[in-house]
Amino acid sequence: MSIDMLTIPAQCVTESRIQELDYNNIEFGKIFSDHMFVVDYKDGAWQNPQIMPYGPMSLNPATSALHYGQAIFEGMKAYRDANGDILMFRPVDNLNRLNISAERMCMPALPEDLFMQGLEQLLRLDAAWVPPTSGCALYLRPFMFATDDFIGVRPSATYRFIIFSCPVGAYYGQALKVAIEPQFVRSAEGGAGYAKAAGNYGAALLPARKMQDKGYHQLIWTDAKEHKYIEESGTMNVMFVIDGKLITPPVSTTILKGITRDSVLTLARELGYTVEERKVAITELVEAHKAGKLQEAFGTGTAATIAQIATIHYDGTDMDLPAVEGREISNRLATELDKIKTGQAPDPLNWVQ
Ligand code: PMP
Repeated sequence: MSIDMLTIPAQCVTESRIQELDYNNIEFGKIFSDHMFVVDYKDGAWQNPQIMPYGPMSLNPATSALHYGQAIFEGMKAYRDANGDILMFRPVDNLNRLNISAERMCMPALPEDLFMQGLEQLLRLDAAWVPPTSGCALYLRPFMFATDDFIGVRPSATYRFIIFSCPVGAYYGQALKVAIEPQFVRSAEGGAGYAKAAGNYGAALLPARKMQDKGYHQLIWTDAKEHKYIEESGTMNVMFVIDGKLITPPVSTTILKGITRDSVLTLARELGYTVEERKVAITELVEAHKAGKLQEAFGTGTAATIAQIATIHYDGTDMDLPAVEGREISNRLATELDKIKTGQAPDPLNWVQ
C-alpha cells in the first residue's frame, strides 16, 4: 500500500470496538471494524466520498435495491506480513469484476482511484483490525446498491457504494461432501451468473439448503440446458485433478470469474502442471473415479483459498476421493498462494499491494 496523505474526509470513532475481538476465536462475519467508506452517485457522478463509523443507515421503504435487486458486491482480503505491514491481494481485480457486475445490472462503474483511495484509507484507519495471527485476515466487503426512493421498475438514478470489513479466522474447514445438483440451476446463458449480483445468492439459498438437509455441505451446479456439465461448487469455482492434470470448467457467462481461480491456474502453469480449462462432463468424473484417476477435487474462492472436496455425490452414489493429505497439486498450490498473499514468496505479477 502506498502511504498517501489522507484525502477523504473521515469522521472517526471516539472509542474503538477492537477489544470486542478475540483474535484466537474469530467468528466469521459478525464483528465489523470501526469504520466504513461510503460514496454516493447522483446527477451522473460519484460524490461526497467519506469515511465514517460503521453503523446503521436509514433507508426509505421504497429504496429501489430492496425491490428490484440492483445490488452487487465483492469479497476480498487484506493480510499482515511478517513485518506487520498490510497487504491487499489483487484489489484491482475485484474492482474490475465489480464494474463488470455493475454493467450487467445497469449500474454505474466505480473509478479505480476512488476505490483504491477509499480502500487504502479505510485500511490505514482500521489497521489494528487486520489480525496478526497466521492464517487470519481482514475480509473486505465492497458493495453497491440502488438508492432511488421510487418503485417504478427502471434503473435507479442514484446509488451508494460502501466498503466495510470484518476480521476472519484461519480456514481449517473439513473436506467437503458435495452433491451434483440434478434440478436447480444457478445461472443460464444470457443470464447474470458472471456478475456478483445479490439476487444470484438469494436464489441459491433454497437449493443449497435442500442439499444440506440431505447431509451434504454444498452442491455442485451444472449447466442449465442439460445438467450434463459441471459449473461451480456452491460459491466457489471448482477444479479436479484427473490423471495428473488440473482441469476446470472455462469461465463463461454462466460462471463467476474467480480471482482465486485465476491465481491458482496461473501458479499451476508456472509450477509446470498441465492445466486444462474446458468443459467437464459429469460422466467424465464418474468414469475417472471408477478408473481410479479422479485424484483431487476442490473449490477455489477468497474465503478458503482452496476448499478440499472429500466426496462427490451423483445419482445415488457417493464417490469418495483419496485422502486430502496425499493431494500433491492442491496442497502445493494452497501453500504457494498463501505465501504470496502474506509476502513470504516472490510476487512477480504484483498481486499484492
Ligand atoms: N463463484 C462464485 C459464485 C462466488 O460467489 C465466488 C466468491 N466470490 C467465487 C466463485 C470465487 O471467486 P473469488 O476467487 O474471486 O473469491
